[in-house]
Amino acid sequence: MTAVPVEATSEGPAHDPGTQARRRRTFAVISHPDAGKSTLTEALALHAEVISAAGAVHGKGGRKGVTSDWMDMERERGISVTSAVLQFAYRDQVINLLDTPGHGDFSEDTYRVLAAVDAAVMLLDAAKGLEPQTLKLFDVCRDRGVPVLTFVNKWDRPGREPLELLDEVEQTIGLRPMPITWPVGIAGDLRGLVERADGTMHRFTRSAHGASKAASEVLDADRAAAEEGPDWERATEELALLDEIGAGFDDEAFHAGTATPVMFGSALSNIGVARLLDALVELAPPPGPRPDAKGEARPVDAPFSGLVFKVQASMDKSHRDRVAFVRICSGRFERGMVLTHDATGRPFATKYAQAMFGRDRSTIEEAFPGDIVGLVNATALRPGDTLWAEDPVTFPTIPSFAPEHFAVCRVADMSKTKQFRKGIDQLDSEGVIQVLSSDLRGDQAPVLAAVGPLQFEVVSARLADEFGAPVKLDRLDYQLARATDAAGAEALRGAVGIEVLTRRLDGQMLALFPHKWRLQAVAQNNPDLLLAPLVADA
Ligand code: GDP
Repeated sequence: MTAVPVEATSEGPAHDPGTQARRRRTFAVISHPDAGKSTLTEALALHAEVISAAGAVHGKGGRKGVTSDWMDMERERGISVTSAVLQFAYRDQVINLLDTPGHGDFSEDTYRVLAAVDAAVMLLDAAKGLEPQTLKLFDVCRDRGVPVLTFVNKWDRPGREPLELLDEVEQTIGLRPMPITWPVGIAGDLRGLVERADGTMHRFTRSAHGASKAASEVLDADRAAAEEGPDWERATEELALLDEIGAGFDDEAFHAGTATPVMFGSALSNIGVARLLDALVELAPPPGPRPDAKGEARPVDAPFSGLVFKVQASMDKSHRDRVAFVRICSGRFERGMVLTHDATGRPFATKYAQAMFGRDRSTIEEAFPGDIVGLVNATALRPGDTLWAEDPVTFPTIPSFAPEHFAVCRVADMSKTKQFRKGIDQLDSEGVIQVLSSDLRGDQAPVLAAVGPLQFEVVSARLADEFGAPVKLDRLDYQLARATDAAGAEALRGAVGIEVLTRRLDGQMLALFPHKWRLQAVAQNNPDLLLAPLVADA
């Protein structure tokens, strides 16, 4: 099968990476839990023609595989730990939607996903505006220079004033809002949306119980004024105000990550969802040249290159394997091609390349820049690794987050030590948690370092279920980590309440502190000591 429709287009030949890259939009949705990410994902998939595992196109209602909560723990808690990929066709474009975990404890995972997208949709709840997790994720987008589109959701029920919400976006995160639609009628009594570019009103029908439904007719300004009276007047006044303050659309500012196109709607009532897809197609950037570790850009039509952004154990208990998710950065991917794993210099055969589609997978024959390919049983691959063909390239690695929670991990039953070690190695290389060790602590009792405590539960559950090695975790009193070096380790040896450990994955030495005051005191007394903040440190 082909995971993507590969017809020749008016723009160029069917198998040409440059032509196909222009047809791709690869993005993720960032939001605070409960803002409606799952609802929006389903609504997007319903609008689009979903390309199924078998290459056939699901009709409307083809929701199969949309959800990604696969572990028992996820089901119990209603959280989504893993990232699934959805690919669908829309208006002759191929859209890749990468799911991000909703819970803040898995921010590190989200960070990796955001390294693999070309744009993000920031989803806000109309009644709540910017919430803590949205802010944190937005910071990651800013960090990575990912352009952000904003969708204000739940407009079908009472919420805040649209101008107030935009003001909050501008004041809090310094992102200039550029509305491309504007609500007519207040939140909770939405009549329709104004299309700002041409001033038409897309009016919704009302269902029996008064809720708005998707757009049914397009009204010109005169008719909208006559029929919608005060609601229309208010909307046009607000738009005039926006024109005055210069909130017009500016493509460059959007791509540079300093301004955001804003749309209003309701994922649940399917309002504004198609508009969002249109905006993605029309405004969001297609895959472009990607800077390598030296800062040189690799164009999309260069020979194949890809970035491993996620490694994950199988979602399916019936076949326990390990999948490396690779975002294609340049060139054409063809199943069976032999790539070079940049980190080891070893050849990597891609016979088992798969398209990942929620829970479903299928063999993938061909893929292009912006697409995500799942490589099965790719045990050597780690998040941040580069794969290339013909012309070597190394993409910058994806930095690890600053851990804030620490626990010593010991196997509960000593006869399972071998399984325990194997499990820890595996979870470490998947990036599920950071594994720290020192000569003092030895191999039997590594320290696990997490961004959020739920990561410990995932590790515990997986070590018990997958590796048959139940563990005991004892939380340590440290609260923060700083990067240090051998001299730092030497100077801190024996310091009360401080410990220096080595992160296994990259050999980075981390000094752990019980609280920031201890860190401040140490830094003040030893100004020459290397104590560098880590990514996403507050
Ligand atoms: P997530 O945690 O961000 O994935 O949020 P969900 O998609 O699970 O939605 C959280 C809750 O908000 C659910 O009860 C949804 O039905 C509800 N919801 C989502 N979108 C809308 C919307 O547009 N309008 C209303 N009224 N409720 C919504």
